[in-house]
Amino acid sequence: MSKKNILIIEDEKAIREMVRFSFFNSDFILDEAEDVNQAREKIVNQTPDLILLDWMLPGMNGVDFAKELRSTDAPGINGDAAKIPIIMLTAKSEEKDKIKGLNAGMDDYVVKPFSTKELIARINAVLRRTGGDKVEIISMADLELNEENKRISCLGKKVALGPLEYKLLSYFMHHPDRVYSRSQLLDRVWGGDVYVEERTVDVHIRRLRKVLAEHKQEHLVQTIRGSGYRFSAQE
Ligand code: CA
Repeated sequence: MSKKNILIIEDEKAIREMVRFSFFNSDFILDEAEDVNQAREKIVNQTPDLILLDWMLPGMNGVDFAKELRSTDAPGINGDAAKIPIIMLTAKSEEKDKIKGLNAGMDDYVVKPFSTKELIARINAVLRRTGGDKVEIISMADLELNEENKRISCLGKKVALGPLEYKLLSYFMHHPDRVYSRSQLLDRVWGGDVYVEERTVDVHIRRLRKVLAEHKQEHLVQTIRGSGYRFSAQE
């Protein structure tokens, strides 16, 4: 995984240093700006993956800068910059202020004083949510496998599978259009060190087809006579 560039806009040196220190040996690289003017220059040179934005800054405050960032017609702000996730750093904990911050286009906020552990957890959560870490979706016919939450759905409906049927279908979706013998499936889905009879594969294939039939997708699991099974949308 490549490291994420985080830009902190914060006039308090102690806070910048604390965050920089907490990023040692993490997946984040910290870039620092003391105010909005410095931040603008940094953003024009390199679009960060996420911004930590202090609310009370000398000159333009954080909320106004967030609004500026979200409007693509501001000088130096392009479409990419307008989508940078923002976590607000704020000493104000009143609910109405939080709402004001979120309305200005913030993705989350952390109330000072915060622990760096909490900050890193928030950064990770925001990056996940905003697609900084791309969620891989594998599609096949009407089926969709979400790699992040390990769920398979069919046209938006959850496909309720037992653990082995899930592993089997997940394997098939990763490896479509190929024929696998029963022993290959045992090896790759069940794991090589487990002793299971080959007909166990047939049992689970049957169960998988039954669940898929509820979603009219059972045709995807094909029996190849004398060889094994294939997962394919083609006849
Ligand atoms: Ca401040």
